[in-house]
Amino acid sequence: MNSIIPLPDTWQTLLSQTLESPEALIRYLDLPESLLEGANRAHAEFAMRIPRPWLDRIEKGNLNDPLLRQVLPLGEEMDDVPGFTQDPLEEMHSNPVEGLIHKYKGRVLVILTGACAINCRYCFRRHFPYADNRLGPTQWQKIIAYITADSSITEIIFSGGDPLVSSDARLKQFITDLEQIPHLTRLRIHSRLPVVLPQRITESLTQVLQQTRLKVVTVIHSNHPQELDEQVANAVQRLHQAGVTVFNQAVLLRGINDSCEILKGLSEKLFDIGVLPYYLFTFDPVKGAAHFDIPDSEAKQLLQQLQDQLPGYLVPRLAREIPGRGSKTLLSLDQD
Ligand SMILES: *Cc1c(COP(=O)(O)O)cnc(C)c1O
Ligand code: SF4
Repeated sequence: MNSIIPLPDTWQTLLSQTLESPEALIRYLDLPESLLEGANRAHAEFAMRIPRPWLDRIEKGNLNDPLLRQVLPLGEEMDDVPGFTQDPLEEMHSNPVEGLIHKYKGRVLVILTGACAINCRYCFRRHFPYADNRLGPTQWQKIIAYITADSSITEIIFSGGDPLVSSDARLKQFITDLEQIPHLTRLRIHSRLPVVLPQRITESLTQVLQQTRLKVVTVIHSNHPQELDEQVANAVQRLHQAGVTVFNQAVLLRGINDSCEILKGLSEKLFDIGVLPYYLFTFDPVKGAAHFDIPDSEAKQLLQQLQDQLPGYLVPRLAREIPGRGSKTLLSLDQD
C-alpha cells in the first residue's frame, strides 16, 4: 500500500488489505515457483484470501507451516474424489426462514453474512452460493418474528461466514432487537476473527457485549497453537473483561494438527490464554479438500492419546455433524 498518509491499523483497514494473489504469496514467503500453476487454478475456484496479521505468523520458506497450509490454494483441490460433495451438511435445505437454521432444540443459528476475513481451504462453506450475501432488513424482521413465535428458543447463534465482519453498529442493532424477546437468554458468537484478526475485538464491540442483558458466549476457531500469539491473548482478555465466556472449536486436519503433541499444545495454549476447548470436529467431506481428511479410526486414536495426557477439562469433544440429526454426533472411544 503506497498511501502518502499512513492509515491507522484499524480492523477495517486490515480487513481491506488481505492478500489475494497466489503469485504475491509465493514470492513473499519464498515458496517454490512450481506451486503457482496449481495455486492459480484452485484460487480461480475458491479465492485465496489472507489477512496481514495471519500472514505475519507464517514462517518464511516453510512449505509445511501449519498456518500456511490452511490458506494456500493447491492443485490437489481440483481432484475429484468420490464422497466429497459441494454441500456435505445439506444445509441448503434446512432453513425455515432465509438466513436462519433451526436444526437443534432451543437454539437457532443465524447467518449474518456470508463474508469471512480469511478463506480456509477446508471450509465446508466454500461452495455456498451466498458468498457475499448480507442479511437484509426484511429478512431480519422475519427472523425476529420466527424467534418471537417460538418460546422454546433460548439461544441465538451468530454465524456466517464470520458474523464479526459486521460493523459494531449493525451488531448493536441486532442485539437490541433480540433483547426484546423475553425467552431469549443467551447470545453465542461463532467467529474466527479473534484469532485471525484480533484487532477486531475493539472497545466499542466489547461495550456492546457487556451492556446486553443476554449472556454472551464466543466460540473462536483455532486449529494450531502457533495461531495463538500475544495479540490473540489480548483479544481474549478484552472479551473476558466484558464478561464473555470463550470456547474454542477446532477441525482435525491432515498435515496441520494430526498429532497428539500438537493437539495437546493447542489445548494447553488455549487454557493459558483463558479459552476452554469445546469441539474438535472431524473433517466434513467437502469437494476440493479431500487431502485434509483423516479416517475416524485415527481420529479416535488421537483423542484417546490426548485423554491419556491431559486433564479432562482440556480434552475437546470429538464430534461431527451428520445431516438430519438433532445434535452434533460425538465419536465415542472404544470401550475395553
Ligand atoms: C453446531 C450447530 C449448533 C450448535 O450446536 P452446539 O452443540 O450447541 O454447539 C446449532 N445449530 C446448528 C445449525 C449447528 O450447526
Ligand atoms: S473462517 Fe470459518 S467460515 Fe470462514 S472460511 Fe474459515 S472455516 Fe470457513
